[in-house]
Amino acid sequence: MTDRITRLNTAQSDFDSALASLLAWDDSVDHQVNESVRHILHEVKNRGDAAVLEFTAKFDRLNAGAVAELEMDSARLKAALAQIPQDQREALEKAAARVRDYHERQNQASWQYQDEDGTVLGQKVTPLDRAGLYVPGGKAAYPSSVLMNAIPAKVAGVSEVIMVVPTPDGVVNDLVLAAAAVAGVDRVFTIGGAQAVAALAYGTETVPAVDKIVGPGNIFVATAKREVFGVVGIDMIAGPSEILVICDGKTDPDWIAMDLFSQAEHDEQAQSILVSPDAEFLDAVEVSINKLLPTMEREEIIRTSMLGRGALIQVADMKEAAEVSNRIAPEHLELSVEDPQSMLSDIRHAGAIFMGRHTAEALGDYCAGPNHVLPTSGTARFSSPLGVYDFQKRSSLIGFTAQGADRMGRVASVLARGEGLTAHARSAEYRINE
Ligand code: NAD
Repeated sequence: MTDRITRLNTAQSDFDSALASLLAWDDSVDHQVNESVRHILHEVKNRGDAAVLEFTAKFDRLNAGAVAELEMDSARLKAALAQIPQDQREALEKAAARVRDYHERQNQASWQYQDEDGTVLGQKVTPLDRAGLYVPGGKAAYPSSVLMNAIPAKVAGVSEVIMVVPTPDGVVNDLVLAAAAVAGVDRVFTIGGAQAVAALAYGTETVPAVDKIVGPGNIFVATAKREVFGVVGIDMIAGPSEILVICDGKTDPDWIAMDLFSQAEHDEQAQSILVSPDAEFLDAVEVSINKLLPTMEREEIIRTSMLGRGALIQVADMKEAAEVSNRIAPEHLELSVEDPQSMLSDIRHAGAIFMGRHTAEALGDYCAGPNHVLPTSGTARFSSPLGVYDFQKRSSLIGFTAQGADRMGRVASVLARGEGLTAHARSAEYRINE
């Protein structure tokens, strides 16, 4: 690692390879983690509550006689909401209202139509019966994650949202429980890690099996989610956080430096990149970075992230800035420019697009309204933010009239016989009028 942030220029001859090595990160599979997660999953699948209790005692130093003792009932959630400071309660409720309002617009309706034979075709949208929400709690508490994962599920119409959150040493975080109350979570178990993912996937005597598990977590949680995929659905496997800022050079460099820090402070592998056609502005932001870094509480994490994976990229013009951004497909993209709307048509791949100088990405993390669970590591090329649609599924509707069965039966018969599937052909032919 150098002591200066990486500087790249699209005009340099090795730009492509320099960009590729900037974007590479260590995602090597840890075989020891894999093995221990498989063991935990196997034990919980076979021994249910007893195994959950053992692993909770081992990893979270929390001894309970029964999993039921680890459930926080609705009275406990309401008490947490009543106990937290007034300003935190108001902030949670305001954020939740905006997140709900935004996600209500994502609700999909079922639809049907009739073709010329009167045959009914359509799509029926149904919410999942049960969703499991993993809220990390090993090292820090994430009430915003509760809102961002639980509210879309409730808006989608999921009947039961079951949250798990580890409580190392039995220390329960009231702000997280308060967020669960505000978001309308139905049941909360204070268990975590791979054992909680296993309990949600397979079900135990006390924890009901769910249909899909969402929410971030550490390597044990992410590995467990990957392993249970297929038994249940999962949202995604998130990589380190990322921000890419495109700036025309006219925003206060301190603002931009702090926006880059806001993702860098998540962890050492987080990636913060600034793209601008203005070389002097890139210099000014570097000065701001060096000036502000010593004032940050998480100085060392930010420094490691900025110097290891951060970059200032000079481009020829704003069109090229958009092209570089599309190649990276960032989780968060800030368009710190005069007229962001006019740039939108050039932007093709980004999890969330923050438009204009006043739109700090941090607002999107908490309270703007859209979801903060976003595709990382270039996966915005093919995937979308967590949303109501992740908690709903679609069934196709097909209802032939006699006339339709006659007409389309002939088509099916020809194709089925072409495939050598006689039962298919005869099943269609029974309904053909001779
Ligand atoms: P966590 O809840 O993910 O993990 C804690 C659990 O890990 C413990 O309950 C324990 O069961 C298990 N564990 C710990 N050591 C273990 C071991 N040796 N063997 C087996 N299991 C073990 O909490 P965390 O550790 O604080 O991690 C939270 C993660 O979530 C961080 O990586 C953070 O960056 C990420 N996060 C991401 C987002 C996002 O939106 N992408 C939001 C919040 C948090």
